[in-house]
Parts: sequence; C-alpha cells; structure tokens
Amino acid sequence: MDKALSQETLGTKTLQDQMSNEVSSDEDEAQDSEHESFETKLSKAVIRRDTALVSSLMKGAEENELEALAKNTKLMDETLDCLNDEDLKFIDKLYMHVEDLDVLTKCFFYRFGVNLGATSDEGKEFKRYFMYGTWPDVNGGNIKDDQGNDAIFDLEAPWSVVGVKTVYKAIQGLPPSHIAQVKDIIRRSTPYLNNIGGGAVAHYGTYYVQYYDEDADSNSAGYCEGPADRCYELPALERTIVHELAHIIDKDQLYSGRDEFRAITGWVDEGKNSDSAKIVDFIEANASGALYEGVVDDEDKSIARLAAELLVENSTGYALNSYESNGVAQVKDRIKEAYYYIPDAKADPEIKAEAMQNSFIFKFIVSSKSSNSNVPCYRGLMPLMNRQIHQGYEGGAWYSFPNKAFDDKISLYQLRDPGEEFAELYSTYHVAAPKGSKTSAVHNDWFEKTGLHEDPQKT
Ligand SMILES: [Zn+2]
Repeated sequence: MDKALSQETLGTKTLQDQMSNEVSSDEDEAQDSEHESFETKLSKAVIRRDTALVSSLMKGAEENELEALAKNTKLMDETLDCLNDEDLKFIDKLYMHVEDLDVLTKCFFYRFGVNLGATSDEGKEFKRYFMYGTWPDVNGGNIKDDQGNDAIFDLEAPWSVVGVKTVYKAIQGLPPSHIAQVKDIIRRSTPYLNNIGGGAVAHYGTYYVQYYDEDADSNSAGYCEGPADRCYELPALERTIVHELAHIIDKDQLYSGRDEFRAITGWVDEGKNSDSAKIVDFIEANASGALYEGVVDDEDKSIARLAAELLVENSTGYALNSYESNGVAQVKDRIKEAYYYIPDAKADPEIKAEAMQNSFIFKFIVSSKSSNSNVPCYRGLMPLMNRQIHQGYEGGAWYSFPNKAFDDKISLYQLRDPGEEFAELYSTYHVAAPKGSKTSAVHNDWFEKTGLHEDPQKT
C-alpha cells in the first residue's frame, strides 16, 4: 500500500526504478526481520492473521519472550485469536504472567471452553436458583429491605486475576473429557472471612466457588479433623474448584453409586425419611447407651418410639438446623403428635414431652439430619454409636458406615455422603503433586482402575 501510494505521488519513476526499488526493499526487510524482536515479528504475523507463522514463532519463543508477551495486553489479546486449536496449549505457558483480567478470562475460555460467570443458558438458570440470597449484617442478622424483610442480593461476584489463575491451575491437569462437561464456573460473594467454599448441580454443568483474594493460596481446607486427614495440607481453593467439578462428572451418582466404591468406606444406604421405622430400628440396634431417658413404662415406650419415627419422617434438616431453638419445639410437637396414635394414652402429653425431649434418641435424630451442623461430617464421630448413621443430602438417603472410617480419611467432609467422598477423592487425587500421592492405596486403585485419573490415550 505504501509503495503504491508513493509511486502515485512521485509518478516519475521508470518501471526499472520501481523493480530495483522493490528488490532492494525486500532485501532490507529480510535483513530487518533477523534483528526484529519476537514481539515485533509476532505483531506482524498477527496483523496478517498468519496463523502458521504465529505458530512457529510461539514454538521458538524463549521463556522471557513469552512472559513479555503475556504482559503486553493488546498483543496477547490479538495473539489468542491467531492460535490454532493445537496451539492453544501455549496458553499454559502464558497465563500465569497475564495481568489483565479480560485477557486472562479469554485465555481460560479459549483453553478450556468454560465460561467464567453465569453465561450459558444452563448457567443462567443455575444462577436464578442458587445465586440470589440474603446478606449478613454486623449484628448477626441479615440486611433488611424497605419493608423490613431480609433483602435478597445477586451473589454473583466478578472474578479476580488471582482467582482465575487459581482456577486455571486447578483444572489444567484434569482429563479433558471431564472439563468438557463443565459449562460455567461462577464466583460467588462470600460473607465470611476465610470462607472458601462452593456448590455444584450436575444437571446444569455449572458450579460456583467463593473465596477472598488474600485466601486464594490458603491450605486451611474446610471440615478437616486435623493434620492426619489426607487432604490437610493441600491448597483449599484449588481443592474446592476440583471438588465441585467432580460433582458434575458424578451426575446421577455415576461413580459414587457404585457398590465397589461404597465398599471402600463401608457405606450402607439405610433408606429415606419415609423408611423411618427401619432407621429408628438401626439407631436402637447400634446405640451402646440408654436411648430414652424419662421413659418409665410401656405407654411411654410406645410413644417415645413413635415420636422418634415421626421425627425422622416429618422434619427437614433446615427446620431442625439448631436443636437449641426451633429444634426443641419440633421434638415436643412430634412427641405430642405421637399421643394421638396411642389409644387411651393416660399421661399428660405436655409433661411427658418435656421429660422426653432431651432423650438421647431425639437429640441424635435432630443432629443426624442433613444440613445440621452436628452431623459426623462436621463434628466427628457421634458418641454412643457402634456404627454411625445420618442423612446425606437434604431429603435424601440416610447412610450408615463403620466408626473405623474415621481412622484413615481424606477429610471429615468425605463422610457427609458417598457423593462427597467421591468429590473429596477426586480433588485430593488430582490436586496432590504428584497425583495420587495423598490418597490411600485402596482409593487410588479404584480411581485408576475406573479410569478417572486420565483420559484413554488416543492410538
Ligand atoms: Zn461437595
């Protein structure tokens, strides 16, 4: 273009002049390009959209040249658009030096095909259900709206540079077929200091994590009993990111529902809330101490037993979340309710309910409901039980497992539900360096035999 323009302007050159001019200028270019920097050569290749040249330049680049490129926001941004599919792996060498959040997010999307934020249709639906909520005020309550009700906030938070780099690092080494099942990873605001956490719904292919920038490298993993837990020293945010991803690939208990997997810890599905008689039978059979204090005669016994079943059936974990507050009222209600089923009951329901509500079995059932902060996965071994039992997920199955599961565990949280054991195994296996170095031989054997450690090699 420049040449054509100069010819038009000058207008006096002969054809021969022009030709010799072009030849000499081509020679100049060739000489120049030998001395041009990597960035200059790359810039020219990017402007021409010469993906083959970009590819060969990237292959020959030195470490420091890649670092400088990553920090050159404009060039880095444009270079990403000129990478062939097979050259996307170069981003692995660049991303940790990128300082611009938008470019970093683009790096992540190009490399993994995963949105950072509620972007896909499924992700937007996920957000509608799970990413709006209350926000605590300084007095232990929630911030109120104009009508005095708890105000509802959009909890989606913008990603930060340190967060994106951590997500990138965390999922980089996972089997590509697993990453391909994820649509969106959302950052959620966290109302509590040092509160790394997350949540996933496999159906949406979407999950969220929450973190503070200053805690992104923290290794204070949640719900550990102590240093003996296998996940103890691993970085908490990386583990959370990979843990939630594990729930996506475990859709419909694809892995955590398998007999061979459940046999490792000794999980037994004891039924749902509607199987209350079976669950109370289990508690009675496995308790080593007195279950029903204040129970003195056969009438009491019938009422106490029936009330225990009603408590399993009727109450949700959320309603019983705090035994000290509404939990007490619920227990009394269930005991009083039981009187209606005992013909000609003689005792005063109010007095008996008062006596019975502090019995071991009622406290035990309240504490064993999903979402209660006293279930074994949060506070450890339940006392007086020869075998543990509690409800896994809200409205879901009650599981039992042997007390010895506490002797060698990944984390306490592993013992919430077989689905959580799978997620804890998956994250601890993959985040440990080298992979599998923190998990037990029996877990690793099953994991690798099942092909969860890597995708099958293409032949
Ligand atoms: Zn989980």
